[in-house]
Amino acid sequence: MPEATPGASREGGGAVVERATCRSCDHDGLDIFLSLGEMPLPDALLRQDQLDGPEARYPLDVAFCPSCSLVQILQDVPPERLFVDNYLYFSSVSAGLMRHSREHARRLIAERGLGRGSLVVEVASNDGYLLRNFAEAGVPVLGIDPAPEQAAAAEAAGVPTRAEFFDADLARRLRAEGMRADVIVANNVMAHTPTLNSFVEGLRILLADDGVATVENTYVKDLVDHCEFDTIYHEHFCYFSCSAVDALVRRHGLYLNGVEHFPSLQGGTLRWRLGTRPAADGSVREYLESERREGLTSFGYFAEFGAQVSRLRDELRELLVSLRDAGQTVAAYGAAAKGSTLVNYVGIGPELVEYVVDRNVHKQGLFMPGTHLPIRDPSVLLETMPDYLLLLAWNYRDEIAEQQAEYLGRGGRLIVPVPRPEIV
Ligand SMILES: [Zn+2]
Repeated sequence: MPEATPGASREGGGAVVERATCRSCDHDGLDIFLSLGEMPLPDALLRQDQLDGPEARYPLDVAFCPSCSLVQILQDVPPERLFVDNYLYFSSVSAGLMRHSREHARRLIAERGLGRGSLVVEVASNDGYLLRNFAEAGVPVLGIDPAPEQAAAAEAAGVPTRAEFFDADLARRLRAEGMRADVIVANNVMAHTPTLNSFVEGLRILLADDGVATVENTYVKDLVDHCEFDTIYHEHFCYFSCSAVDALVRRHGLYLNGVEHFPSLQGGTLRWRLGTRPAADGSVREYLESERREGLTSFGYFAEFGAQVSRLRDELRELLVSLRDAGQTVAAYGAAAKGSTLVNYVGIGPELVEYVVDRNVHKQGLFMPGTHLPIRDPSVLLETMPDYLLLLAWNYRDEIAEQQAEYLGRGGRLIVPVPRPEIV
């Protein structure tokens, strides 16, 4: 088992645990298709005075379960190191996500006939931005979020919130207090939970017999199709297909009853509708059949993806080295977690990219983990006019191009790294 090095920016917490069996079905014999190497925690940005200190790095291997089709990483970094001191990302919810949440809430209220006698529970409720839509309509709500600042902000906004991790134990305690949820919403959290079975068991325990749980996560097929390997990092334990979700929830007495796709949300998101009784609409069979047909239930599909990722690394490195050798300058845009995965996997340090810009003022003046690229305000781009701008935040490509119209108008050019490095 690899040892965890004490981090410069993060003290405490246990060592990384290397798994041998499937997080869902416990199958012994996972097939690794991608090794990203020793990676720092992607959000562990450093101050100047920490650059010479020790920095925690953990191996990051991605594997396929031949028994239940779940794609997962093999390493567990203790959750308290990953999630709790996440102050940099507080209230970073985008306008698009707010709209998506509001529409989802309105539809649930109408379809389920929710009112004063109902209960809506949200797991990973953040500052309550989704639950507020229900509360404003007079529907009782409960938020669950382990981050204390977020939970406090939600409370202040009128959303009762438990500052705890969601699992079967918490669900049992809530049920013992008399709670049964008519609706449970769990968005972008199932991939973040190291105790996957306890999480799903918790959904079943807390859900009323005729209730519905809606679970959203990025879709592993979109990840593969668009080569979004940089969304793989230690905070994301699992990468779901419908086949893997179906096998997982059945084991806990829940049924996959509907699937919806949101192609532009977080690089491609699915919403799974779960119930305590089988009531699948046509979408479920359609997705399960197409996944079998296209190979998502077999290792070869993912082995090919692994090879594609290493080709991307070689091509991007070659491109940046050739630009440097030709005397061109390059900066990067986006100091988020996936930017960290990309620069650390490809090996992009200050010798290839001068700096990274990010609009988050809390990140400016800090340094990317691992490769130590300095993070600066986007206004620096016009001052220094680098020849190229590497888009680490490729998911905001249009927004950034619009925001940087002057940089582009003066001759600056964009490098989009995925699905293949391309100058546009
Ligand atoms: Zn499995």
